[in-house]
Amino acid sequence: MKTVSYSLLHLILLVSPMLAEDQTKTSSANPTMPQPQITLSEEEWKKRLTEEQYRVTRTAGTERPYGKIYEEFEKQGEGTYYCVCCGVELFTSKEKFHSGCGWPSFYDASTAKNVLERADHSHGMVRVETLCKRCGAHLGHVFEGESVSANTPTKRRFCINGVALHYVPKGGEAPKLLELGSGAVEKKKEALAKEAGVPVSKP
Ligand SMILES: [Zn+2]
Repeated sequence: MKTVSYSLLHLILLVSPMLAEDQTKTSSANPTMPQPQITLSEEEWKKRLTEEQYRVTRTAGTERPYGKIYEEFEKQGEGTYYCVCCGVELFTSKEKFHSGCGWPSFYDASTAKNVLERADHSHGMVRVETLCKRCGAHLGHVFEGESVSANTPTKRRFCINGVALHYVPKGGEAPKLLELGSGAVEKKKEALAKEAGVPVSKP
């Protein structure tokens, strides 16, 4: 019994500094990378989003090109594009252009400046990933110096998954912003309700 306890303690002592070091490494590797203001658990995101929205925005997935959402995007007129996860403004129709790539394309983010860019080395490529600054949703990537964006003011193509966007036509009502820390608040509410209504069961 003593041996077991000792082994466990030994393991904890070994693992703890590794975890602490990892955290330091993450923060020092991206000193300027702002942390998302909204941090819901994976379960909470799954509850709020459709399966495809969750796959793309929370697991850095990519939607099929030339899909139904893209077809709709191509037809949309003046309006604003909000984050499907947290409701913050990301793009407007002013920066939209037809690139023919099969995904919604913009040459710039909206003036609200809620789109974050960071290096992405996944799938053996060097790309720049775009994310929602407020909730960390994966939106897509941004490419520079291509012929398709040569005639745009920025010469950049924000290649965005349509499923990550919530379109509101000009004059329409903006979506309600997901409250900051609502995940934690909901959890606390659930815990309080449990405490008040249901007697705490002990195993
Ligand atoms: Zn967001």
